[in-house]
Amino acid sequence: MRIFCIANQKGGVGKTTTTVNLAAGLAQVGRRVLLVDLDPQGNATMGSGIDKRSLDPSVYDVLLETTAIAEARKPSPHGGYDVLGANRDLAGAEVELVTLERREKRLKAALAAVKDEYDFVLIDCPPSLSMLTLNGLCSAHGVIVPMQCEYFALEGLSDLVNTIKQVHANLNPELEIIGLLRVMFDPRITLQQQVSEQLKAHFGDKVFNTVIPRNVRLAEAPSYGQPGVNFDPSSKGAVAFVEFAKEMSERLG
Ligand code: ADP
Ligand code: MG
Repeated sequence: MRIFCIANQKGGVGKTTTTVNLAAGLAQVGRRVLLVDLDPQGNATMGSGIDKRSLDPSVYDVLLETTAIAEARKPSPHGGYDVLGANRDLAGAEVELVTLERREKRLKAALAAVKDEYDFVLIDCPPSLSMLTLNGLCSAHGVIVPMQCEYFALEGLSDLVNTIKQVHANLNPELEIIGLLRVMFDPRITLQQQVSEQLKAHFGDKVFNTVIPRNVRLAEAPSYGQPGVNFDPSSKGAVAFVEFAKEMSERLG
């Protein structure tokens, strides 16, 4: 079982879209996937077709160790993967965890119990370096960083790279950056092409070959409770995410 965080401290950069569609894409190529929603907004939960409002238990209960993952997970109706969902309750965990022991290793411990049931675990992180994100980074073998090719993209990246280095040094020696995924890409915009070239020059083969285009069908899919990959399989965005799932599958064996 390989565990990956989808992380970037910025909001609205495509973390949740990447997590949900990579999960559906990996399911489509025959992999057993668990998606963990670590964002109290619960967007990955809703986008997987699971109603966050009636979710009980949730990942919150798993972090507080009152419930096992086996009892809290639910199948995504269209996605073909399982979901450990989140909702507003999770915002409270941030505070409650602070006084508890092994507070940053709770998710890691819980995932150990399902290690034979999945090939991949994908963790959708909130847009911050909080105790929740730390639980994700302490559980993971690697980080996938979705990013838009905009002017300040490289600057924002150095904070994340430093954080990952610190966690690697102090808490989780296995942690590494698996790759940077260019998302919401529009090849007609010269600046985006330039930033994309800079990224490749700077990070080399840490930049995934697959590029996710800006595609409205990916943005529409969550309101139907479906990953874009399932909602409109022939759309450019869906095709790109299935391609990305294959690239991930091949890279990691
Ligand atoms: P994050 O989880 O980092 O906050 P989201 O995945 O929620 O980011 O994406 C932010 C917004 O951009 C959402 O409205 C989403 O539907 C939209 N979006 C994400 N990726 C794409 C894409 N490739 N093309 C068009 N819209 C996208
Ligand atoms: Mg999100």
